Amino acid sequence: MEKKHQDKVIVITGSSRGIGRSIAEYLANEGAKIVVMGRNYDTAKAAADALPTDSLAVRCDVSIEQDTLDMAKAVMDKYGRADALINNAGIFPVKLFEEMTLEDWNAVMAIDLTGMFLATKAIYPIMAEQKSGKIINIASVSGRVGGVGFTHYSAAKGGVIGFTKALARECARMNIQVNAIAPGIIETEMARTNFPAFSLKEQTRATPAGRLGRVEDLHGILSFLCSPESNFIIGQVIAVDGGFTMI
Ligand code: NDP
Repeated sequence: MEKKHQDKVIVITGSSRGIGRSIAEYLANEGAKIVVMGRNYDTAKAAADALPTDSLAVRCDVSIEQDTLDMAKAVMDKYGRADALINNAGIFPVKLFEEMTLEDWNAVMAIDLTGMFLATKAIYPIMAEQKSGKIINIASVSGRVGGVGFTHYSAAKGGVIGFTKALARECARMNIQVNAIAPGIIETEMARTNFPAFSLKEQTRATPAGRLGRVEDLHGILSFLCSPESNFIIGQVIAVDGGFTMI
């Protein structure tokens, strides 16, 4: 039987571990060929090799324009198309505003906001040429309601949301649908390392579902947004946060 994403080419930035790797595994099991990447080639290669489909590993730092252009070329050389782009690469170092330096600010902006712009810039021409595509940006609840220790991150993710809506308006008539998801805290290794225990506890308490998110909580919505079933959903920011925001 044909799988849901049979032979679709899905590019996922930051897919060597965490949320990106988990969704890569899920979509590959639904038949997609995944372009797996991160700043370290060996980790990306190990993640790609573990997938059940003919996937591609690329070393790509999304904050470096040439890396994103090389990545798009590698995608075209191997597959000749790109059906979906999931802009997932991101960092979220916690730092209070009083202690934040310009360097801290710029580091987050370069990856979480400019990196998403650059990866999209590189893949967009492929989608424009084929007159179809799905772009899904991983924002965050912090981009909507803010977060303590997250002035840089909240600003970047708020920027992701604005970018999503503006781009969605520009390219909807070209049959390219752009949307975002805004997860609450998802228990990845990075989240457990970055967030102090008390803030994980506080977030759990403030979440109607009574728990933090798991990577699996994102699988269904991301698969849906990569599929034709979501073709009339455009410029939306879908919260996946156990009811934390309810905006
Ligand atoms: P992880 O740190 O576990 O994974 C991040 C991935 O991005 C890794 O594959 C990493 O690989 C890659 N990456 C980091 N910097 C770059 C870069 N400059 N260029 C390319 N790839 C890069 O994070 P999560 O899985 O927890 O988070 C993934 C996304 O989800 C982020 O955008 C984050 O902001 C967002 N998010 C996470 C939440 C959470 O609670 N976990 C909640 C809401 C949103 P490498 O280091 O090898 O480059």
